[in-house]
Amino acid sequence: MQHSKNREKLVSEIELFISYGVEKNEQQAAQLFLQRYKNDDLALQLMRSFYTSLPETYEEAVCRIAFIEKKDDIFLLGLNTALHGYLYLATDQKALLLGEYGEELLEPKALALFGYLDLKEFLKKYPHIDKCPEYEPEQLADPGFCPVCSAVTGEYHLLGCPVEVCPWCEGQFSRCGCRFEQLGVEVLEDEEELEELERLLEEKGRVPYAAWQCPSYPSDVDEKDGQDE
Ligand SMILES: [Zn+2]
Ligand SMILES: [Zn+2]
Repeated sequence: MQHSKNREKLVSEIELFISYGVEKNEQQAAQLFLQRYKNDDLALQLMRSFYTSLPETYEEAVCRIAFIEKKDDIFLLGLNTALHGYLYLATDQKALLLGEYGEELLEPKALALFGYLDLKEFLKKYPHIDKCPEYEPEQLADPGFCPVCSAVTGEYHLLGCPVEVCPWCEGQFSRCGCRFEQLGVEVLEDEEELEELERLLEEKGRVPYAAWQCPSYPSDVDEKDGQDE
């Protein structure tokens, strides 16, 4: 199979779609998520299909792929953004949007392939997309490494790595304002300040690399908290 060339092409296509279609503050999460599945044709087809037909008003990043069922080479998969869920059919050649999860399907007959009479019967078995297990990438390129700075799981990122999580605000350390606050300055100017920052960071307890560090990973708790404010 001449897969890997095609795959590289597919990955760069998706990167491009992300850079045009996804809202600025979710772009990094989208790219990181893509890296995780960069050797998985099925997930790549799914993401291409999603990002090429992205509902214009949403501009959201994919942050989870759920495995639902499989029949021969055809997978029934769920796709989550921070706020929406979708149902897809996918093979390693192509993906097809069936509809928003839980709502009327664009292709109602597709579920018959998996032995469901209709959407109602399907939803009885899988009422919540979030309860379906995560679809694991076929082959991880470098399991356990930060995709940006290559820190191994449990190790600190290189200072300045955009994946690093801020121990003060739990945001993205390269973007949040905590470093200025901690140092009491408006801009970082010299080596000394950087060293001081590193010292403060270590004193507070840096967050080492772990696989979950996708900034928009969905969590019920966070969403509820957000709505209360
Ligand atoms: Zn890193
Ligand atoms: Zn912070």
